[in-house]
Amino acid sequence: LDVCAGGGSGFVGRELTRLLRSKGHEVTVISRQPGPGKITWGQLESSGLPPCEGAVNLAGENLMNPLRWWNESYKNDLFSSRIDTTKTLAQAIAASPTPPCSWVLLSGVACYKPSLTAQYTEDSEWTPFDVLSKLVKEWEAAARLPENVEKTTKQVVIRPGVVLGRDGGAMKQMLLPFWLGLGGTLGSGRQPFPWIHVSDLAGIIAHALEQPADATSPSPQVFNGVAPALTTNYEFTKELGRIMTRPTIFPVPEFVMKALLGSERAIVLTQGQNVIPKRTLEVGFQYKYPDLTSALKEIVGS
Ligand code: NDP
Repeated sequence: LDVCAGGGSGFVGRELTRLLRSKGHEVTVISRQPGPGKITWGQLESSGLPPCEGAVNLAGENLMNPLRWWNESYKNDLFSSRIDTTKTLAQAIAASPTPPCSWVLLSGVACYKPSLTAQYTEDSEWTPFDVLSKLVKEWEAAARLPENVEKTTKQVVIRPGVVLGRDGGAMKQMLLPFWLGLGGTLGSGRQPFPWIHVSDLAGIIAHALEQPADATSPSPQVFNGVAPALTTNYEFTKELGRIMTRPTIFPVPEFVMKALLGSERAIVLTQGQNVIPKRTLEVGFQYKYPDLTSALKEIVGS
């Protein structure tokens, strides 16, 4: 399989590229920077999509960049880096004389309204209610292909929870404070914490790229990219502390999180959703790290 991966240089993209290459597939990364094995977004626009059987978009300005204040310019970057790249790739697919069999977008679980009790599957209805859910709506809409192309190219949307892995994402920011014994629950700690191990997320993406188009399924097919185990922020915090053999006695109050991150962004950590990977399990995806203990042991190294 030849795969074109927008944002394939990032945290999830590197894991995906490793996995695909280990299965004998070829990966071309679409990036802002030229380099070996890469094309730039400009080249994609001017020269079209290189021949490939699968395409995926993983590009996006980091939402949890601690060095960026939550302001209009940052929000614009979050939107445009996701929506413009997704549109560019969808247009290149539509214009290709040999469009790929599958087109996969990674969005997020922010479309589901945070709740202590609700449980969401891929079939749950939702309408935008805040900035991040609006982002998911526009992002997923940008991926839609014209009807005639939908017949040849299977469209998939994967909505990941917080992606856990050693080499990036949330863990990279959490390991130092936890190691110093400064880790603690965020806000009330009772909020759900939807998560997935990066290796399982790469597996779900590879699965979506490799499966031949199923003409009967509605388009796009949505998969929740979360582990099957439901976890609260309290459970996550205590388990990470236990595995690192560090105390987790300093809760971080919600107002501090809001002051540091901005209230619209703090939601990701101070509130959360119980997300069920119903369809991901139905298609028979086998998780390597279905529970938190095995995932954290792999990441922290027991
Ligand atoms: P990264 O933060 O690692 O970024 C992925 C790539 O996006 C980067 O390597 C970069 O590629 C490109 N990129 C960054 N900023 C911009 C920009 N301003 N304009 C265009 N491209 C940009 O992301 P992850 O690998 O962690 O996540 C992949 C996708 O999954 C993202 O869309 C993210 O929103 C989504 N997601 C991630 C979660 C997580 O916990 N990590 C949770 C839920 C969803 P280059 O420098 O080569 O151009």
